[in-house]
Amino acid sequence: MARKRLVILGAGESGLGTALLGKEKGFEVFVSDKGKIKEKYKDVLINNEIEWEELQHTEHKILNADVVMKSPGIPDNVSIVKKLVENNISVVSEIELASQFTDANLIGITGSNGKTTTTMMIHQILTNANFNAGIAGNIGESFAKQVATRNFEHYVLELSSFQLDGIKNFKPHIAIITNITPDHLDRYDYKFENYIASKFRIAMNQTKDDYLIYDADDQVIVNYLKMNPVQSTLLPFSLIIKVDNGAYLENNNIKITIENNQIIMPTTSLTLEGKHNIKNAMAASTVAHLLKIRKHTIRESLENFQGAEHRLEHVLRINKVQYINDSKATNVNATYYALESMDAPTVWIVGGEDKGNNYNGLFPFVNEKVKAIICLGVDNRKLLQTFGNMVDIIVETQFMSEAIKIAYKIAEAGDNVLLSPACASFDLFENFEDRGRQFKEAVRKL
Ligand code: ADP
Repeated sequence: MARKRLVILGAGESGLGTALLGKEKGFEVFVSDKGKIKEKYKDVLINNEIEWEELQHTEHKILNADVVMKSPGIPDNVSIVKKLVENNISVVSEIELASQFTDANLIGITGSNGKTTTTMMIHQILTNANFNAGIAGNIGESFAKQVATRNFEHYVLELSSFQLDGIKNFKPHIAIITNITPDHLDRYDYKFENYIASKFRIAMNQTKDDYLIYDADDQVIVNYLKMNPVQSTLLPFSLIIKVDNGAYLENNNIKITIENNQIIMPTTSLTLEGKHNIKNAMAASTVAHLLKIRKHTIRESLENFQGAEHRLEHVLRINKVQYINDSKATNVNATYYALESMDAPTVWIVGGEDKGNNYNGLFPFVNEKVKAIICLGVDNRKLLQTFGNMVDIIVETQFMSEAIKIAYKIAEAGDNVLLSPACASFDLFENFEDRGRQFKEAVRKL
């Protein structure tokens, strides 16, 4: 029988991993990237004798595919993808393809915010409980590469909506939707409902033997579930209401019940601050409880959990002022939780590429806690207009080093200086990591 032809569009982390997996599974593999391929990835392709091209998509080498893996960064409306669809060629994501080649227990995490944090928490608990567990998806080494080269019994997968758009049969045994707030709408025809539906694809192949863990305080999720019931067994978590099955908060204790078996954990054992992190911990502990991990191990893992870089990361305390890097807050909802968790007067550094932000939800926190605003973006007009009358000091700059110097001058003992931009970083920085690193460097130079 002729070998099946696997074409991979995009030679990034997931493209490379898929190429290696395809090769290992006996596909005829071709990698095509419209841009330039990084040298380190080219080396891998050459060493593994995988055919590739860059700076172009050669149609006759692509339209003869049996299956195509499209990297998550490539939108559906580019011409080559449209042609593939017209030719009835199956276009899937790396997650879909890789999951066909593993029997491991799959735990999938999606949502607008909190994916990385929750994914890392779950992986830490599983590892501490001596489970043989990999971590993949939007994090670290690609899922496909790990399926090709490792032998994990469990995978904890961080899943973006783009990866979920490209699934057909992918079915996590345990799925989590952390929350849904408007984001990336440019990829969804500016329709929030399309983006919501995309997130819920995580549960579309689940049966009643699988679980969906979700935020029951999130009306977007609750309403969608009412209108579009899923097969999965539901395990909601809530800070507000008491749930029979799932997790809720009572007197500073997290109570998690699954089939009449309850475990209780004090929130004081959580190292990460903020209500959103109680939610993340609830979701992670529910997974652990499902997998019958001992309470002691869950608690110890959460006690030692350090949090991910650029997420409310405490950088330094200088002259009794705490500097906090929340560069990953690229939307208003993430910044909402950052400001909510501030327990001292705050100098707030905000701004960047606005994604059609609505800042109204932040007003109470700004009025209550923010003593000065430093706008850090190419175009700060909207911020100046929105918050100009709300705080005594509002300034703008295009340089991180200057932002930090201004913050240093304004902040007094006991205050916080918080970088939580609520915007994308691309106007002034390479990405949110670059923005966060520049923040930390500037703080360390003070
Ligand atoms: P993601 O991977 O979904 O972007 P992260 O864990 O990287 O999520 O966090 C992104 C931003 O959102 C950070 O600023 C973080 O402090 C904030 N955040 C984390 N968890 C939540 C949550 N459950 N709800 C809202 N914001 C959150």
